[in-house]
Amino acid sequence: MTDFDAIVIGSGVSGGWAAKELTEKGLKVLMLDRGRMVEHKKDYITEGHGPWKLAYRGTLPPAEVARDHFLGKWGGAASTDRTHFYNNDRLNPFDYENSKPFRWVRPNQVGGKSLIWSRVTLRWSQLNFDSNKQDGHGSPWPIGYDDIAPWYSYVEKYAGIAGQKEGLFQLPDGEFQPPHPMNVAEEWVKERLEKAMPGRKLIHTRCANMTEDKPEQGRSKCQKRDQCARGCSFGAYFSTQAVTLPAARKTGNLTLLSDKVVTNLEYDGKTRRVTGVRVVDANTQEAHTYTGRIVFLCASAMASTQILLNSRLPNSGLSVFNSSGVLGRYIMDHVMRTNVWGTVPDGALDPLVQFGRRPTGVYIPRFRNLQGQDEGVDFVRGYAFQGAAGRAIATPGGFGVALKQGMRRYAPWRIGFNAFAECLPYKDNSLTLNPARLDRFGVPLLVFNVTFKDNETRMMNDAQRQGETMLRAAGLVSVGSGQEEHVPGDAIHEMGGACMGDDPTSSVVNRWSQAHDAPNLFVTDGSQMASTNCVNPSLTFMALTARACDHAVKLVQAGAI
Ligand SMILES: Cc1cc2nc3c(=O)[nH]c(=O)nc-3n(C[C@H](O)[C@H](O)[C@H](O)COP(=O)(O)OP(=O)(O)OC[C@H]3O[C@@H](n4cnc5c(N)ncnc54)[C@H](O)[C@@H]3O)c2cc1C
Repeated sequence: MTDFDAIVIGSGVSGGWAAKELTEKGLKVLMLDRGRMVEHKKDYITEGHGPWKLAYRGTLPPAEVARDHFLGKWGGAASTDRTHFYNNDRLNPFDYENSKPFRWVRPNQVGGKSLIWSRVTLRWSQLNFDSNKQDGHGSPWPIGYDDIAPWYSYVEKYAGIAGQKEGLFQLPDGEFQPPHPMNVAEEWVKERLEKAMPGRKLIHTRCANMTEDKPEQGRSKCQKRDQCARGCSFGAYFSTQAVTLPAARKTGNLTLLSDKVVTNLEYDGKTRRVTGVRVVDANTQEAHTYTGRIVFLCASAMASTQILLNSRLPNSGLSVFNSSGVLGRYIMDHVMRTNVWGTVPDGALDPLVQFGRRPTGVYIPRFRNLQGQDEGVDFVRGYAFQGAAGRAIATPGGFGVALKQGMRRYAPWRIGFNAFAECLPYKDNSLTLNPARLDRFGVPLLVFNVTFKDNETRMMNDAQRQGETMLRAAGLVSVGSGQEEHVPGDAIHEMGGACMGDDPTSSVVNRWSQAHDAPNLFVTDGSQMASTNCVNPSLTFMALTARACDHAVKLVQAGAI
């Protein structure tokens, strides 16, 4: 007899879906999260605040940033409208190690990163499921586009995705609400780019900010306040709090416990089953073990890998889930620090000013190596661009009348893009544990041994060249570009560690996200990814999670696990 039918570890993008699906299918579910409780609406403490109501008017002063080793290096969290949704460095100082630089961006609450993500939601294509097999990197995917397509549709319809159908093979269409409109400058660039360079496309970014209401879920469409990272009481974007948690709670089958740090899974080698989930209470430090017939591990790619690595037989340094020898290997993140920009020439759109905000921008889908290896291209796989155009108010000099007249003018329209490239799955890009150093919950520190290599560098160089070429071809002027240091983790799309495959000697989970070493364990977050593609990954985690839940419940009902 177990405490629960299922235990879900983590309540972010993946865990939220697992809780929704399993409870709706009638299972009694315990969802555990190491973060503090955040209730929808009530706990969005900076929502709607003007800068004058935010600490430091929203921007942390340099001295404050310097006190936090993480915030200082990863600027995305350094705004005081959202710092409370990130891991507190001062409570958890240096609780991971870098043998090589890695930026591990972590949330600090129930809902995980679903509250702070940028909501870009793109499907994978068959091209991406074939890539490992075709070029021999990583372990081959055991599933293809047809296996996941119905689950993409399922999660898209429920979550509410805005986008436009384009009929692109490399970026399949989904179940879309109308897109967020492009502004005049983006339309101007689109028209000229697509004419000048046939095959290149500039499309609406597809995103989980709704353009239509979902009254049946108590959610309204995006109000375009541009405050998503603070939480949204309209429920206009996909988050655990707005979407999956209410659905799971409605069933009456969910128990949710916050502030519970899962340290490891307990395992019976004879039955090959996970027998318990050990937690340490984040506030009292008390340890407790919960039992469930099945366990869904959704703590996010790096954290789930840490839990698996730390699930060891007594007095053993070896994880019970590593019969393949690849647990903790093939750690990946997108490469993203290449930027290109350009200006719409004088006269083209001068009189046109558009006011207002949007939750997202425009997207140039992958165009490299779509039909096999392109001639003259010195890397495998590809990259895409995310960007937006905008027009700022002019910043005139002078005084009095001259200043006032100058302030009526606008700066020219400018457009900028950021390349997102695929990182290959390298076996030696790995996570290990340092048993000599424990965090405050007794868990050995995670050590990151991850670097980008030649293929990633070549892709970034090509993205920089091609980015400039496209903007020039579209007729933009003052075109420029640059690359910053490429540090894994920086793209916040970390994946791998427990990769999927049919062969138990070279993968950790099977085609149903089910651990080869424990059939009652499902690992459905980014750790299961055998490659990264170049698109934002979370929609794929959602679809794979819903698919795995469906399979797991069928197995439970059949008495197979
Ligand atoms: C600023 C930002 C922007 C992003 N933008 C995009 C985007 O536009 N599109 C996209 O696809 N992706 C985006 N991402 C990435 C996206 O947020 C992640 O891919 C996604 O949240 C991963 O889902 P998850 O469920 O695996 O992890 P999370 O959402 O992080 O949830 C994991 C949960 O597990 C909990 N947990 C961790 N360890 C333990 C433990 N030991 N015990 C108990 N609980 C634990 C955490 O507290 C957390 O609540 C972005 C990320 C960031 C930070």
